[in-house]
Amino acid sequence: MVELEVHECECEVCRGAEEHPDRERHRHLNAVLSRLDEQQRRWVVALESEQWGHGGDTRMAVITGLHPETIRRGRQELAEDLAGRPVGRTRLPGAGRPVVEKKSRNSNRL
Ligand SMILES: [Zn+2]
Repeated sequence: MVELEVHECECEVCRGAEEHPDRERHRHLNAVLSRLDEQQRRWVVALESEQWGHGGDTRMAVITGLHPETIRRGRQELAEDLAGRPVGRTRLPGAGRPVVEKKSRNSNRL
């Protein structure tokens, strides 16, 4: 059985001691993200990032643990209305380890 890893938000509010509505929102967001596949995760976070405008990717990276570059890519895909992206799940639930987002070709050989 694969154990689902839910990212813990590392924003100021969530690390602080005081109660704040953002904390629940960030927790829920990360819970939802943990059930999505890579591309769905990227799009949901990109959508959230768009609401913030400048600095959104950095902010969402802190909250969700996704790389800012991954979020930027998600925004780009949204801007193209997801044209060319596969429909449906990109992999079955629990089917092995998540695919590494950024692939570097020939990284292990010359
Ligand atoms: Zn937070």
